[in-house]
Amino acid sequence: MKPEPSHRAASHACSVCGCVYDARRGDPAAGVPPGVPFERLPADWRCPRCGAPRSRFQARDSVEAGPPTDTTFDPLIPGVCQ
Ligand SMILES: [Zn+2]
Repeated sequence: MKPEPSHRAASHACSVCGCVYDARRGDPAAGVPPGVPFERLPADWRCPRCGAPRSRFQARDSVEAGPPTDTTFDPLIPGVCQ
């Protein structure tokens, strides 16, 4: 496997519904443009699917948390859940 710098800690998963925030895509529905890291999301940003607060999100490492294949590491939906 080849490490992809842009993937490292680039996504955070909601511990409630599994929704993934992908910093490369942002959250357009919430007015967050692509490229905004999770750490810089507004304090009142919430899970676009279930409304869980930021504190319920956990950083996920594509190498550690993902399946053996690096093609897709989101068990639910690739990229942002909407
Ligand atoms: Zn959620």
